[in-house]
Parts: sequence; structure tokens; C-alpha cells
Amino acid sequence: MPTPVDRSATWPYEDGEPGRFSYARADHPAGVAVEEQLGELDGGDALLFPSGMAAVTTAVLTLLRPGGTIALAEGAYYGHAVLFQHLEPWGVRFVEFDQTGPPPPADLVLLEAPANPLLTMPDFEAAAAHPAPVVCDSTVASPLRVRPLEHGCVVALHSATKVLGGHDDLLAGVLVSHDSRTHERLHTTRRLTGMVASADTAWLLQRGLQTLDLRFERQEATARELAERLHTHPAVATVRYPGFSFLISFDVADGEAAGRVERALGTIVNATSLGGVHTKIEARHRWEGDRIPPGLLRLSVGLEAPEALWMDLEQALEQADRKRPD
Ligand code: PLP
Repeated sequence: MPTPVDRSATWPYEDGEPGRFSYARADHPAGVAVEEQLGELDGGDALLFPSGMAAVTTAVLTLLRPGGTIALAEGAYYGHAVLFQHLEPWGVRFVEFDQTGPPPPADLVLLEAPANPLLTMPDFEAAAAHPAPVVCDSTVASPLRVRPLEHGCVVALHSATKVLGGHDDLLAGVLVSHDSRTHERLHTTRRLTGMVASADTAWLLQRGLQTLDLRFERQEATARELAERLHTHPAVATVRYPGFSFLISFDVADGEAAGRVERALGTIVNATSLGGVHTKIEARHRWEGDRIPPGLLRLSVGLEAPEALWMDLEQALEQADRKRPD
């Protein structure tokens, strides 16, 4: 049953001493409630953040020292690389590497399972053999398919904005760890920097989690079907799909063709983000530039009927080969 939302920023002391909740920047009841659920899903202790980027920033500030190098999975969410570049004046260094093999020498390893949008899977065993702490962003797999803490990672990271929330109506992030020292250190960074999600966000996320498994299974089943059909379509050169989850990326001839597909779609929304109940498509080149093929389209499959989605894709792909009339 839904729990009432307590939006208080402060709570009275008990017998002159702070009780379980005293000031919301440390902890608040709605946050703790959803953290319990998130912790169970990933098999550790969860911390909620106001976005996925707040979560990765906290992980880096906590686990890396100035001058330290992050080994970042190639083809992972491009925002991570952009953030690390932005933090260079603070002594953050990073190198990208092919996560299907061992990470290079580094002080922190950031994997992504599977990488968005190139959809490679990490070699967890090779990463676990690395001396540095390993963090895995498993936003796309969700804890239903990959639990990084069971593969030697110290921290699992999620943008809960995506499939955990599931409805494109909240921004949130999550870090899950299973050793109490790491959990404490992450919590301290969160409390001191004030990167705290609101009670309303926590409550909405709890509501989304109630249907996570149903949404995920349906989205995954449709994605499997669409990936197979895309493989046989003459306008599609490459299809990337790891065999599970809701995210597919595929290439049409070039950037122009990708733009024509985006504009021709009807049921499928031309918008960024992924994991929500509405199917979305986006040419990623506009954001990521040359690190990905210019004709790459990222398709996040939602809950619509598979046939309706395929019909929409088919008619839009017809435009991939057509030039616009002058
Ligand atoms: N990790 C992945 C895999 C993502 O796709 C995103 C956003 O697209 C993020 C992290 C960042 O999350 P947020 O947008 O919630 O800050």
C-alpha cells in the first residue's frame, strides 16, 4: 500500500537528542523506504540521489583521489566522459577501454552493463581481477538482469530516471554497495554535498518499482521481437541487442537517413532517454558526435503493442532510403 509522503526538512529531537530522522539532507523517511527496496533488488545497501549524474559524481568524489585515473568503458553513457572531462581541473583523469577485455592500469574502473548505446557487456571477471575498485552502471540491465555486486563490483550504479522509475516523470540515481565502510563514505559525500533527492521523487520511484518486473518483462519481450525483425530489414545495416532488456541500437546508412526515420515516426516518440513505458527513438550522433556511427538510432522499447511498433518502424524505415524532395 502507498505510504504517506513526509516532506519535512527537519524533525523534533527526542529527549533532547536527534532521532532516526533529524534533518532531511542526511536521510528522510520516503528516501529510506525506497532505498530498502532498491537495496533488496541489487543485494546491498542503496543510496538515493537526485539524478544518475549525482550518483556517479558521488562515486567519483568518494572513491577517487586527485590525480587518479578512471578506466571508463568505451561506448558507455557519453555523459560520464563529458563529466570526467569537466572535472579535469579538479585532478580527475580518465581513459576509455574496451570493456569486453581487462581494464588498463587505473585507480577506479567504471563498467556499463550493457553500455548505452553500443550495448557491449563487460568482462566482469577481468574487471574483478583489477586492483582498483570497480563500479558498474547497470541502468539498462536493471537489477532484474544484472546484479554487479555478485560479479565483484564494489558499487552498482543506476539512473533511476530510466526503467526503475519507468514513466519519464522523475529524475533520480542510485548507488548500491555491500560493504558498510563504502556505504558510509558514499553517504557522507551525499550528506555534505547535499546531493539529495526529494521525498516526492522517492515516493514516485517507489510507485514505479511496484510494476518494474511486469514492465521489464513486457518491454524485453517486445524488444527481442523488434531486434529480430530489424535484422532482416534491408535499410538496416547493423543491429545491436544483447539478448535481454529493452534497448536496441541499429544503424541506417548515414545521419541524413537517421534524421528521416526520426521525422517519419508516429507512434514511436522522437525524444531522448530510455526505459519508460513509451517507446522512444533518437539519433545519438547529435549528442555523441564521432564516437558512434552517424546513422545510429537508439530505440528504447516501451509497452505499446509489438505489431503497432513494427508497423511504425517499417513505414519510417522506408524513408531511410529516400531523399527529401527538393
Ligand atoms: N547512466 C546511463 C546508462 C544513462 O543512460 C544516463 C542518462 O541517460 C545516466 C547514467 C545519467 O542519468 P540521469 O540522466 O538520471 O542523470
